[in-house]
Amino acid sequence: MTPSLRAFILRSVGCRRQSPRLRMSQAGSNCVRQTYYEATGAEREPDTEEGAVKMALGTAFDEYSLQNAPQALHEEELTLTQKTVTIKAGDLTLTGHADLVFVGKKGPVHVGDLKVVGEKTWEKVQERPKQEHQAQVNLYAFGLGCSTWSVCYVRAGTGEILEHYGATDDFAARRDLGMFEEAAYWIGKGVPPPRPYEDFEEEDGTVKRARDSFPCGWCKFNDHCWGARDASPRKGENHGKPVPGA
Ligand code: SF4
Repeated sequence: MTPSLRAFILRSVGCRRQSPRLRMSQAGSNCVRQTYYEATGAEREPDTEEGAVKMALGTAFDEYSLQNAPQALHEEELTLTQKTVTIKAGDLTLTGHADLVFVGKKGPVHVGDLKVVGEKTWEKVQERPKQEHQAQVNLYAFGLGCSTWSVCYVRAGTGEILEHYGATDDFAARRDLGMFEEAAYWIGKGVPPPRPYEDFEEEDGTVKRARDSFPCGWCKFNDHCWGARDASPRKGENHGKPVPGA
């Protein structure tokens, strides 16, 4: 057999999946059922090889860039990297790890999160951070008592850096915590919450299937959630049948 570094790398990065549990990085989810599935390790579409390598590159860059971070950028501030954040809400204890925290004389003042992204995401974040990234760092800021946050994007293909800033939104953080509490409730019951999406009949009588629409159509738990797909074609698919008029 020909020795292959490619095969070695793919096997190595394929072993890096995190153990399932509720984690702050799930903040901003569109669906509590999806959060339930993630936290319980439900069967999901496997990561693509490209996705697994991108995830590993992001982790490696986090470690490389943060491990030698200066202790302080300004005289009056201390910087902490990979700071554990813990939030208690009722019976729920949620933890996360903030990439960089600036600490002033009176305590944490600002938290930043680093995201290494590919081209598609880079295009989408030119004006503002992705909703789930903002929700995650806002929750860190809320848990640490910081008044501001930032999401710092690194474009994997070029090394460009773009940082978005915001003020901590306590209301949004509490709303996200409510989602985690609901997920924890269903985890305690041992059954997934009901699906929040249904098929929808358009005015012309055609049925728009929820499983093919946002967010289900992009969800890694689609088959697990809705069952194996039937023989009827998805939007944009013809399952090999002849196209009328072709
Ligand atoms: S397929 Fe849809 S309803 Fe099911 S977990 Fe995913 S987003 Fe939620």
